[in-house]
Amino acid sequence: MGKALIIGCGGVASVAIHKCCQNSEAFEEICIASRTKSKCDALKEKLSGTTRTKIRTAQVNADHVDELIALIEDFKPDVVLNLALPYQDLTIMDACLATKTHYVDTANYEPEDTAKFEYKWQWAYRDRFREAGITALLGSGFDPGVTGVFSAYALKHEFDEIEYLDILDCNGGDHGYPFATNFNPEINIREVSANGSYWENGHWVETKPMEIKRVYDFDGVGKKDMYLLHHEEIESLALNLPGIKRIRFFMTFGESYLTHLRCLEDVGMTSIKPILYEGKEIVPLQFLKAVLPDPASLGPRTVGKTNIGCIFQGKKDGKDKKYYLYNICDHQECYREVGSQAISYTTGVPAMIGAMLVMNGTWQKPGVYNIEEFDPDPFMEALNRWGLPWKESRDPKLVD
Ligand code: NDP
Repeated sequence: MGKALIIGCGGVASVAIHKCCQNSEAFEEICIASRTKSKCDALKEKLSGTTRTKIRTAQVNADHVDELIALIEDFKPDVVLNLALPYQDLTIMDACLATKTHYVDTANYEPEDTAKFEYKWQWAYRDRFREAGITALLGSGFDPGVTGVFSAYALKHEFDEIEYLDILDCNGGDHGYPFATNFNPEINIREVSANGSYWENGHWVETKPMEIKRVYDFDGVGKKDMYLLHHEEIESLALNLPGIKRIRFFMTFGESYLTHLRCLEDVGMTSIKPILYEGKEIVPLQFLKAVLPDPASLGPRTVGKTNIGCIFQGKKDGKDKKYYLYNICDHQECYREVGSQAISYTTGVPAMIGAMLVMNGTWQKPGVYNIEEFDPDPFMEALNRWGLPWKESRDPKLVD
C-alpha cells in the first residue's frame, strides 16, 4: 500500500490514473497534479465512487522546482509518476532529489528549443540519486517501457546472447480524421520529422526522415507500411544488451498521415523556431498543436488494433534462434474500459505498473536506471493481469 503523486492529466495520465484506481490494493492514495487543475478535478469526479483509492488534486507548474517541492512535502508520496511532458523531466527529478522521493517517467528529457532527445541529461543524476538512496525508473511506457522489459525477459529466459533486435510499433487504428496524432501532437511531430537512426556494430547510422520503409504483416492488424525512426530506447538497449549487433525501430504510418505531414513541414508549420505573429512570439508547432484534435478526444472514434513488440535474433546453447514478443490492443476495448484509445492505454498501463513496482519495493535500487535494468518477471506478470497480455512466436517473419 502506498501513495503516488501523478504529475500531468493528459491522455496517458488519465489511463494510468484509472489503472491506479482499479489497483487500490497497491495505490491507497493518489494526488493528481497538473497545470490545469480543472482537468484533475473532472477526472477525480468521474472516478469517485468507483474505487477505494483516495484521490486528491492539486495545481502545479512542473517547470518550477519550488512548487513541486512544496507539493511533495505536503502530500508525502512514496513515488512521483511523471506523466507531464519530456520538458519537465529534470525539474521533477530535482524535486524528487530534494525530497528523497522515488521517480518514474515514460519519456526521456528533451530541451524545448532543440528536438533532440537523449538520456545524457537524466543519466547525469545517477550519483545524486544513489547518494540520496532513491530510485529513478526511466521510460516506463510501452516504447520505451514494455519494449525494454521484453528485451530483459528475452535475455533472461530465451537467449544467451541477443544479436539483432527490431522493435515494431504498429497502429492499425483509424480515427476518421484526415490528420491527427495519437499522443501529444507537439512531441509526436518532433519525433517523426527528425532524422531516423539505428544502432549497428557499436555506432549510430543516421537516415533521412522516413528514408527506410518496409512492409510487415502484423498479427491482428494485417499488412502495413512501416518506417525506420530514431527512438529513445535504442540508446539504453545498445548499452544494456551485451553483444548486440543491431537495433532498429519501425513505426507504421498511413499515406494520408505522411502526405499531411509533408505538406505541414513544407509550409513551416512543424518548425520549433519561434516567429513573430502580430507582435507576439509564437512557435509554429505549438500553434499547430492548438488547432489539431486533442488526442484525448480520439477515444470514441478510433477503431482497430495496435500491435507493438520486439523481434529478437541471437544464440541459445550455440544455436541460432529467433523470438517475437508482442502485445495486441484493441482501441474500442480500451475506450470501453477507461475512456481512452489504445495509444494512451498501452502507455498508461505500464506507467502504473512501473510506479507500483517501485513503490512496493520490488524494483527499488538507488540510482537512475532504464527499465531493462530491472528483473522483468514481475512486470511481465503484471502486464497480463492489468490489461496488456503478451503473445510470443518462435518462428516470426523477420524484417529484411
Ligand atoms: P498530453 O499533452 O495529453 O498531457 C500532458 C499533460 O501534462 C497535460 O495534462 C498538461 O497540462 C501537463 N503539463 C504540461 N506541461 C506542464 C507543466 N509545466 N506543469 C504541469 N503539468 C504540465 O500528453 P500525453 O498524455 O499524450 O503524453 C504524456 C507523456 O507520455 C509525454 O511525455 C509523452 O512523451 C509520453 N508518452 C510515452 C509513450 C511511451 O510509450 N513511452 C507513448 C506516448 C506518450 P495541460 O492540461 O495544462 O496542458
